[in-house]
Amino acid sequence: MSQYVLKIVSRCDLSCDHCYVYEHADQSWRRQPHTMSPRTVAAAGRRIAEHATAHRLDVVRVVLHGGEPLLAGAAGLAAVANELRRRLDPVTRLDLRMQSNGVLLTEEIAEVLVTHSVAVGISLDGDRAANDRHRRYANGASSHERVLRALALLRRPEYRPSFAGLLCTVDLANEPVSVYRALLAEDPPQIDFLLPHANWDRPPPRPSGAATPYADWLLAVHRAWTADGRPVPIRLLDSLLATAAGGTTRTEAVGLAAADLAVIETDGSYEQVDSLKSAYDGAPATGLDVFRHPVDAVAAHPMIAVRQSGLDGLCATCRACPVVRRCGGGLFAHRFRAGSGFDNPSVYCPDLLYLVHGVSGGPDAPADTGAEPDVLDPAVLDDLGTGYGTETSVRQLTEVHLAKTRALLVALSPATAGHPFAGPAWDRMVELDVTAPAAVADVLGHPFVRRWAHRCVRTPALADLGRLAAVAAAAAIRAGVPGDLDVPLRDGVLSLPTLGALHWPDATGPVTVTAVAGGFRARAGGRTVTVPVGGVPLPPEPLGVDAPSGGPVRLRPEPAGSGEPPRGAAPPPGWRPARRTEDPAVLIEDLDPYRDSYQDLPVAPRLSPVAAVRWAAQLTAAVRRIDTTAGGYAPGVRGLLRAVVPLRPDRRGRHRSATAASAFGAVAITPVPDDAALAELLVHEVQHLKLAGLLDVCELVDRDDTRLLTVPWRADPRPVEGVLHGTYAHLAVADVWRRRPGPEAAARHRRYRDWTLDALDALHGLGVLTAAGRRFTAGMRATLHGWS
Ligand code: SF4
Ligand code: SF4
Repeated sequence: MSQYVLKIVSRCDLSCDHCYVYEHADQSWRRQPHTMSPRTVAAAGRRIAEHATAHRLDVVRVVLHGGEPLLAGAAGLAAVANELRRRLDPVTRLDLRMQSNGVLLTEEIAEVLVTHSVAVGISLDGDRAANDRHRRYANGASSHERVLRALALLRRPEYRPSFAGLLCTVDLANEPVSVYRALLAEDPPQIDFLLPHANWDRPPPRPSGAATPYADWLLAVHRAWTADGRPVPIRLLDSLLATAAGGTTRTEAVGLAAADLAVIETDGSYEQVDSLKSAYDGAPATGLDVFRHPVDAVAAHPMIAVRQSGLDGLCATCRACPVVRRCGGGLFAHRFRAGSGFDNPSVYCPDLLYLVHGVSGGPDAPADTGAEPDVLDPAVLDDLGTGYGTETSVRQLTEVHLAKTRALLVALSPATAGHPFAGPAWDRMVELDVTAPAAVADVLGHPFVRRWAHRCVRTPALADLGRLAAVAAAAAIRAGVPGDLDVPLRDGVLSLPTLGALHWPDATGPVTVTAVAGGFRARAGGRTVTVPVGGVPLPPEPLGVDAPSGGPVRLRPEPAGSGEPPRGAAPPPGWRPARRTEDPAVLIEDLDPYRDSYQDLPVAPRLSPVAAVRWAAQLTAAVRRIDTTAGGYAPGVRGLLRAVVPLRPDRRGRHRSATAASAFGAVAITPVPDDAALAELLVHEVQHLKLAGLLDVCELVDRDDTRLLTVPWRADPRPVEGVLHGTYAHLAVADVWRRRPGPEAAARHRRYRDWTLDALDALHGLGVLTAAGRRFTAGMRATLHGWS
């Protein structure tokens, strides 16, 4: 551990209302002595020196801190600096610093700082109005003038070596460029911006309608700073730029650098970073102190160990996030939520995501939701490369999917500001993400929520932003959280993803939706309806299905008069619940308006109740068949399949199926005669889902290579990524037929196997596979060879 914060005074002469030491959850300062005693300073110096010696540290940074360290006075500061230099200078290079509010800085103290090579950072939130917003004395008086006086002192040539820079806490009420200019005017050697300490239990203030206000604020600074030619280092922005270029961060606020910092309190107790004081009373405590414990004991503390474990120490959402190496899950303290502790993304997640992209992609760059080559654990690549895939690997893909959908929503969120439906809906989503994260995840995991968001981001001019209100309403209803939300109708239909659709053709204007016990209430034009929800679990019994004992489950022709309107006719008013199978838990998705395009394959309209039960029975039987006869594919099918979209029967009677990367988790299928045929199609299509999920985070082929390949299973030449998709799917289909009896099955197995081998050879021959792609396809080849 090479960085230490030494709390040499535990009280302060200011009374800033945003202070994390005095104004947040942790109140341990009350139990601390006013000033660190010489004995404690000596013990701290000794511990740091012995640690530096044992670990052969080239440099150690010690920051004198408080409260307000200048309250120690010139003599007190000189004594502390003396003691630290005496103990540490012989064993390492001591980088001695101080963080101060500056108001007590005098020439006498400045002399001490220069004499002992102490570099001081001064807290300043902008011009007078900005600084006075929080940084005041207990009687309300401004501290601004005295801070400027201190800065003038530090700018004098004789004291300039002790001027480390300015630290500014972001306040949305302050105009960002004015703040930046006010800080720049003090000619600091460096500026740093700090997001106000907050967590999921105490979220930061967000003005209504603002989706990523903190990112917007910092990006405004970024633009001005860039236009000025970056006249001064800004630590947060420089770190984001550095990590975008593959470099390392200089702040624990972003990036994946291991935590390397311990706090030593005034009484000699070791604590974790100060920002944890914002989480809960006692959060930073370790139970260790400089008198009894070496620094190694602090490094082994479980919470510090988590913060030192980089990617592994982050929650699943962050680990799967496309920008995790640049964001790093934000500041540790900002992840706290009662119940789950620190195992969450940052409460600033949308801001961080937007900021990361904005800084690296240029001003106002929309979120780039493209691939991040190094997010995926290589073990997952190897596992999926075999063609199969364990539950663990599959779970990672679902987490990636959720992170992608979130990233799309964040990219969309600036456009929601001021939108009559999307604005309040965004606020509701942010709120529900804190209070009901499981319900939000359920809705965001729905394949056609991602497709809707994807389309909005891709073609902003045509964006159906009102749909966000339906997404938020569905999450609120699932969570049972009441509160009115206006949702626009689309062709007289209120479609709630994962729940169903309310056909209300004669309603005028939007529908006001609120959750009630067991469902929701909808109001429009002075009328109110109450709708019970919960979906309709469809029993797997063979209702309307031929299922001789142990034999195939076949669909019988649809009987006449099944209760559904003829094709093209308007559906009758009323609630149409989403239907789902229980095992596997899959929606028979015949309602969602975004289930519309699978190339040339038209989707079926709402199924009749009888037809829906048949689909459910066949689907259940097919998945059970996969469990027993092709078990290696079962985790993928069970873990990734969220929805089956019935297609219209193929005019030529072919069995058709399709997936789309933008509708991850959905498989569209024409009616097929039995569960064996359905099992084959499901295995085939879920391979496409697996590969699409992998390609979300991992470059397997050179996507800039536009050459086409001829493949045996298609008449038209295919792009290389399409060839890889086909190869991965045919590997699994070859395996399915390998396990079935009879000469016809053997012939099919050989055909698919040979196609797969030929296509793998062609991909290798073309030289379009990346290193990860070669590793992945080596696994496929090994599986093929294992069969023989
Ligand atoms: S100057 Fe610093 S320690 Fe003092 S009250 Fe303000 S924020 Fe807290
Ligand atoms: S942007 Fe959000 S999900 Fe991604 S790493 Fe940061 S906090 Fe985690």
